[in-house]
Amino acid sequence: IIRVTDLRKSFGETDVLKGISMDIARGEVVVILGPSGSGKSTLLRCLNRLERPDSGQILFESQDITAHKVELNRVRERMGMVFQSFNLFPHLDSLHNVMLAQMKVCKRTKREAERVALCQLARVGLKDRADYFPDELSGGQQQRVAIARALAMDPHVMLFDEATSALDPELVRDVLDVMRELAQAGMTMVVVTHEMSFARDVADRVIFMEDGVVVEQGTPEQIFEHPSSDRTRAFIGAVS
Ligand code: ATP
Ligand code: MG
Repeated sequence: IIRVTDLRKSFGETDVLKGISMDIARGEVVVILGPSGSGKSTLLRCLNRLERPDSGQILFESQDITAHKVELNRVRERMGMVFQSFNLFPHLDSLHNVMLAQMKVCKRTKREAERVALCQLARVGLKDRADYFPDELSGGQQQRVAIARALAMDPHVMLFDEATSALDPELVRDVLDVMRELAQAGMTMVVVTHEMSFARDVADRVIFMEDGVVVEQGTPEQIFEHPSSDRTRAFIGAVS
């Protein structure tokens, strides 16, 4: 569903992505691990074109989304993204946070957007919080509203960039449970996380990145139990 070929991105003098290639199959759950500054967020931001790559190609559902003429809104409709910070609109309740992009980007009617929003809020376990404002919700609940908002667009792929890193430990589980269910439902997911248990249990494939390159990739078992690279072994050893 996604094919990345020799992707490169620099900020000024800093080469952040130094030729990344990877394929992501439909329905696959790929977890990206790597130390801080290795380029994980930049890679995700290139995938949904929040960032423009310097060179290389990204094919998404056979469309070259690095081409100049590509309609980014059409791409982002099919690729949902959830960040560490939830970025909800503070002046809108959960329901309207989930409705807004559906009406703006998908041109759905208010009625249809509301129906979908209630359905997605129920899916993330927040049916009874539809009329709560962000400051009346816990961090974990806010993050689940953000996930519902992304799902409401009917994305074909979901990208998660450290979706649980800003949360208190006791709130992390609810968000991971939602992500787990999504994976079980067959969603294609690219997940940057430091949650090793999630990577072990849920990932079909783990990619270890360092210093702008893919060092190693494989099944969770290969990466955690039998890493072939010393750098992977050192990282896994340090975090688990
Ligand atoms: P972390 O685990 O800390 O989130 P990361 O793997 O997501 O790290 P990136 O956020 O992709 O790393 O950053 C990789 C490098 O690119 C860093 O050295 C960072 O300083 C640099 N970088 C990222 N975004 C920008 C930007 N907009 N302008 C300049 N440099 C940037
Ligand atoms: Mg990051």
